[in-house]
Amino acid sequence: MKRAAAVIDLAAVRGNLHRIRELAGNSAVMAVVKADAYGHGMGPIARTARRAGAEWLGVALPSEALALRAMGDEGRILAWLWSPGDSDIAACVRAGVDLSVSSTWALDEVIEASRRVGARARVQIKVDTGLSRNGVTLDQLSGLLDRVAQAVNDGDVEVEAVWSHLADGDTPGADSVARQLDQYLVALEMADARGIRPHLRHLSNSGGLWAHPECRFDLVRTGIAMYGLTPSADLGDSRELGLTPAMSLVARLAGIKGVAAGTGVSYGGTWTAPTETALGLVPIGYADGLPRAAGNLLDVAVGGNRYPIVGRVAMDQFVIDMGAHELPHVGDDVYVFGPGRHGERTADDWAAALDTIGYELVTRIGPRVQREYVEEES
Ligand SMILES: *Cc1c(COP(=O)(O)O)cnc(C)c1O
Repeated sequence: MKRAAAVIDLAAVRGNLHRIRELAGNSAVMAVVKADAYGHGMGPIARTARRAGAEWLGVALPSEALALRAMGDEGRILAWLWSPGDSDIAACVRAGVDLSVSSTWALDEVIEASRRVGARARVQIKVDTGLSRNGVTLDQLSGLLDRVAQAVNDGDVEVEAVWSHLADGDTPGADSVARQLDQYLVALEMADARGIRPHLRHLSNSGGLWAHPECRFDLVRTGIAMYGLTPSADLGDSRELGLTPAMSLVARLAGIKGVAAGTGVSYGGTWTAPTETALGLVPIGYADGLPRAAGNLLDVAVGGNRYPIVGRVAMDQFVIDMGAHELPHVGDDVYVFGPGRHGERTADDWAAALDTIGYELVTRIGPRVQREYVEEES
């Protein structure tokens, strides 16, 4: 490591998938590796997930699916989000990537791609059962299903799945989940009435695995749990869920200096040394995805001790107050967040303090931070 690294523990990813597999029972597992595997690096995570038996990989964008193919992945992949005119659609059909369809324009584009490529496209019909993001509403579903049935007859497409996504999958006892489940079952009946019998039905994300086992159906889509973070603090922390955070964000201490009482630190001098103290310079900042709001709020671990972040987090660096602790040395590893093995807080702890979710913490770690892959003993 030079300056900073996101150290990814592939053994933790495997262990998390093992836990997910236990909860999934007979359902297949789709490992969600969109957004560069939530910042963990798509290639290594995809390979690890496949070796751990993930039947499917899930991504948001067609370009992400093609990147997986370019890395040599030959298994089943679903991509679910694109805008009209996406030039990767035909390539996805050629590459045997399943495409999610939520509207007639999307179906038309897939049909056209299928004809151009000369291969039957596999589609998964996405139903909006209450999340109100993408997905076809039940009002519009009849019309779409009629056109899908026609496209199936014409040999242009095959329907792999009818699926949906939960608004409160991570909330035990949420009323909305029961309502979404009802709507989903109606959608399946509507498809069935037109002779559309999908191979797969899927509704659940990571949170649903714990909170709503009734939503497992044939497959569960899981992202955050594979990375070892909790889908929601309401469900418990990683440890309580039997998960291990896979990413440790580490930087190398780039400077230490003694300062007098009254010395202001970083832009705006929002923190002033109350006594004579030692400051440490940590060479990572908001350009690397570290939230600026962490200044004067959170702490990091060096040599097993925690030190507060003082003053504002800058673009490339922040400062810690090392006070009276036995001083670390320049070049020491600074653990920003991780599984806690070195005394550091977890990404979920950071998320709670910053009023966000672990998902946002890890996905925002930028490309300037190198990824390193290790296998830790558990
Ligand atoms: C991102 C995403 C998932 C994964 O959700 P987790 O909460 O990380 O398990 C599943 N399904 C869809 C449609 C998604 O966009």
